[in-house]
Amino acid sequence: MPISKELLEILACPIDKKDVEYKKDEDFLLCKKCDIRYYAERMKQNTCPKCGEEMEKIKGEVLVCVECNRWYPIIDDIPHMLPDELREDLAGQ
Ligand SMILES: [Zn+2]
Ligand SMILES: [Zn+2]
Repeated sequence: MPISKELLEILACPIDKKDVEYKKDEDFLLCKKCDIRYYAERMKQNTCPKCGEEMEKIKGEVLVCVECNRWYPIIDDIPHMLPDELREDLAGQ
């Protein structure tokens, strides 16, 4: 189920407080071993940067900040608005 419009309106990028754009059916790469997902379009490789295992391609929902382009995954209908220090990979790198 997609997240509600009301929720989307109150969500903001934790870094710059700008709006986030909701995208569904985006490609992600999932490392089953580390249980980490990466936004496929930001990745150059399809192996996990942490453990080197090959990752599985999955579809997922994401919020992308209109200002800084950081992305925040929506996992089980819950947006993960994590600041950089808690993220496994940094957006735009
Ligand atoms: Zn891994
Ligand atoms: Zn931002």
